[in-house]
Amino acid sequence: MDNFTYRDGQLFAEDVALADLADDVGTPFFCYSSATMVRHYRVLADAFHGLDTRIFYAVKANSNLAVIRTLSREGAGADVVSEGEIRRALAAGVAPDAIVFSGVGKTQSEMAMAIEAGVLLFNVESEPELNALSEVAASRNATVDMAIRINPDVDAGTPDKISTGRKGDKFGIAWPEARSVYVDAAKMPGINVAGVACHIGSQILDLTPYKSAFEIAAGAVSALREDGHTITRLDLGGGLGVPYDNEVPPSPADYGKMVRNICGDLGVTIMLEPGRVLVANAGVFVMRVIYVKETPGGTFYVVDGAMNDLVRPTLYDAHHTIIPVTEPLESAPLKAVDVVGPICESGDILAQNRDMPPVVAGDLLAMRTAGAYGAVMSSTYNSRLLVPEVLVKDGNHAIVRARPSYDDLWRDEHMPDWCGD
Ligand SMILES: *Cc1c(COP(=O)(O)O)cnc(C)c1O
Repeated sequence: MDNFTYRDGQLFAEDVALADLADDVGTPFFCYSSATMVRHYRVLADAFHGLDTRIFYAVKANSNLAVIRTLSREGAGADVVSEGEIRRALAAGVAPDAIVFSGVGKTQSEMAMAIEAGVLLFNVESEPELNALSEVAASRNATVDMAIRINPDVDAGTPDKISTGRKGDKFGIAWPEARSVYVDAAKMPGINVAGVACHIGSQILDLTPYKSAFEIAAGAVSALREDGHTITRLDLGGGLGVPYDNEVPPSPADYGKMVRNICGDLGVTIMLEPGRVLVANAGVFVMRVIYVKETPGGTFYVVDGAMNDLVRPTLYDAHHTIIPVTEPLESAPLKAVDVVGPICESGDILAQNRDMPPVVAGDLLAMRTAGAYGAVMSSTYNSRLLVPEVLVKDGNHAIVRARPSYDDLWRDEHMPDWCGD
């Protein structure tokens, strides 16, 4: 469910026509719907009603300050993976004690910054990281709450590049091996053993791997308590999938029920770190057709959006549904085409062999489900400007990230004097 629908033949974001936005901000651009984000947040929160649960939005999915603020106003904390994300969360108004610091490669300076800021919890992913955290905390006379991200060795059945919970993945410490690491952690200065964390991957479309992982995590809580640790937190990570095409992801209600069954009686605060499920369907990427190119090999819709703006199709072979902003006639003949960007890379394909209605140069197209891992993964490759982000609420819109100027592109580049004037 989202708030991008046709009205009288024009695609709207809530009560704003995307064609009007295109006139206002130019193309390409990302457009997000506040109502969709808020709705997804509430549906997820409702699924855990009555259970001691806290939702920490995984900022890396879409770190625009206005997006973070929209969710934090609903009650979300922030799950962050870098100093930059901590600073963003704080800048967006998230309280320090509503921030969880995850990530496999936190540096000591990031740890120090996070301790100064007063974040709630560090999710630690290796013994060297644990040693570093102890050292940094102790040197500041601080004691930090810590959970170990355990690797339950389950296969989430997702593509390799977004799978994180298998033995061979770089994330977490294998369970039960982590049990002895907790023993060491409990003796370390600056460390307060507080919880267990796991996060098995992203775009998960089946509850089975979750169930296996959560059973292992719940078992870990019991085992660690037997070992004498005080475990008050169980972080179940994120990863709930969304429909990009015709996938049917688990419903938040079923997910909540499963968590309740496995973890409801543990007497821990359950922490969730959803990213994609909150924001993916809340965004579209709007682009304009530059040329319709007919070749003996096929038809190409050459558009002004590209892999540098939305890399998921190139990076993950991801499917994003593409629809015209002006609703096509029901009788419009569909034809298999490639939708491609202007970048000098054969991988710059937004959709391949896709049945599309006819378009002409100048038409607007919207790529759906672009709210997560879209703008945050963009680059300026080919010296293309970062794409503006627009947030809609009811009939209002705000440019929440402006398109930079060309001067901005090389503002921080400097000519060494040996290159001459
Ligand atoms: C990426 C990530 C998330 C969010 O994943 P989604 O698939 O977007 O829900 C949550 N927790 C951690 C530790 C992550 O790395």
